[in-house]
Amino acid sequence: MTTTAATKDGLPSMIAYLTRVLKTPTIGAFWEELAEQARDENWSHEEYLAALLQRQVADRESKGTVMRIRTAHFPQVKTLGDFNLAHLPSLRRDVLAHLATGTFVAKAENVILLGPPGIGKTHLAIGLGVKAAHAGYSVLFDTASNWITRLAEAHQAGRLEAELKKIRRYKLIIIDEVGYIPFDQDAANLFFQLIASRYEQGSVMVTSNLPFGRWGETFSDDVVAAAMIDRLVHHAEVLTLTGDSYRTRQRRELLAKEKRAGRD
Ligand code: ADP
Ligand code: MG
Repeated sequence: MTTTAATKDGLPSMIAYLTRVLKTPTIGAFWEELAEQARDENWSHEEYLAALLQRQVADRESKGTVMRIRTAHFPQVKTLGDFNLAHLPSLRRDVLAHLATGTFVAKAENVILLGPPGIGKTHLAIGLGVKAAHAGYSVLFDTASNWITRLAEAHQAGRLEAELKKIRRYKLIIIDEVGYIPFDQDAANLFFQLIASRYEQGSVMVTSNLPFGRWGETFSDDVVAAAMIDRLVHHAEVLTLTGDSYRTRQRRELLAKEKRAGRD
């Protein structure tokens, strides 16, 4: 047996070992199959190498996206693809398309979705959050009252700063349903600190059923509310959605259909 043959025989186990060390399991799993294809189709060495690396990178990216969507704690995974734009003429498509690229996250800009219940704010926030996760950004979703609980607990334990720092590791945080439950002064102050700690550092997406003019009521303090809005909107896309509740519309359409069916 020649030395070359011996080395060749040892190649699979050597590659298995090397891909383990490099933590590139996809290369470990596909190098043989791709090599065969490369021989059949006369790829150059460079083409083979590029294809193999590409497979590894694609795998890692999709695993990363799955992981980011899982850790974002979305209440449900909803996508922009499931969103019926025809129902919402008040939403500018070009603005939505721009937000869907996720570049606002890279620039630490904010997104504010305002509008009545059932208009699709939470759906859009999740859909945009999913897009941001696809684009490689870490996302964390929660309702306003859960964010407050989280901050209040940290504050009580004397580690608010540490908690805010931890939250800053997420490139995008989504605060759903500002305005449904009023906050007392302490909660409002904590909320302000959250917004202030992300100012020009990380993106915030907020949904609210209340126009800015009524945030003072929710935060039981006009001054704190104004200071917060000031920071939120400084670098932000504010989308004010108007129209019918999607739920009401669906119900109405269902009723109309039943009525028609009854007549037939
Ligand atoms: P909001 O947060 O504004 O109260 P949601 O986003 O929770 O409203 O929307 C209510 C329900 O209607 C959800 O199930 C959502 O997926 C659905 N929905 C709302 N708007 C649309 C739309 N334009 N296309 C498809 N589904 C929609
Ligand atoms: Mg909602």
